[in-house]
Amino acid sequence: MMIIAANWKMNLKKADASALIGALNKKASQWSDIDVIICPAAPYVQVVRDLADDTISVGGQCCHTEAKGAFTGNISADMLEDCGATHIIIGHSERRQYEGENAETLAKQAARALDAGLKVIFCVGEHLSDRQAGAENKVVAAQLSELSAFLETGQISIIAYEPVWAIGTGQVASIQDIEAMHGFIKAKCQTLIGGNDKVSILYGGSVNADNAEAILSAAHVDGALVGGASMNAASFISICDYGQSISTS
Ligand code: PEP
Repeated sequence: MMIIAANWKMNLKKADASALIGALNKKASQWSDIDVIICPAAPYVQVVRDLADDTISVGGQCCHTEAKGAFTGNISADMLEDCGATHIIIGHSERRQYEGENAETLAKQAARALDAGLKVIFCVGEHLSDRQAGAENKVVAAQLSELSAFLETGQISIIAYEPVWAIGTGQVASIQDIEAMHGFIKAKCQTLIGGNDKVSILYGGSVNADNAEAILSAAHVDGALVGGASMNAASFISICDYGQSISTS
């Protein structure tokens, strides 16, 4: 099943979210061969869950390392689940960069998310300087090792490859580079968890209605994590339509 996930980041309040979900709901019955997952900002998880068609899943964008307690301003994985989330993004590059998330915190967050019964979408991806130095595989392998305990057991089975230089920049990785990295990740997971088909690898980084068909058709690509273009109904619908037609072709 191809996965098309939307990361709304810190965008879209009730009115815009509801208009967008309304447009997606009208198409949802045509997307029987893809999993559509919407990840709104935390205050809107319940709002989106209430509005969205049952076939559309809802996810959080991050969670705290602890299950509950005196952590003012934070959100637990369990709370996201209580508000209707079934998925969660862990390790997004914006969290790594601006919130200082690292191997230790990501492993704790993943553990809390799994305890809460959420499916983890684990983000990895190199910086431009890594790629220029030819170190992209090394960097991504190190990131995979952050959650290898959960990959080994198959508890985490969705990975998003998001080259940092392609996120929100309009600069997309080439199909060749995407296939090479997805193949690399798949092979790494195969040695960790003993089976290619247990892990879905999504591509993220400036996916839009114009490039989605080529990206989703590429080898080892099992879906997309979409930021900017997921907040425009026509663009996101078009990406989901490509996902559906490629899944059934
Ligand atoms: C993202 O934030 O996960 C992302 C892929 O963003 P964009 O599609 O805007 O590059």
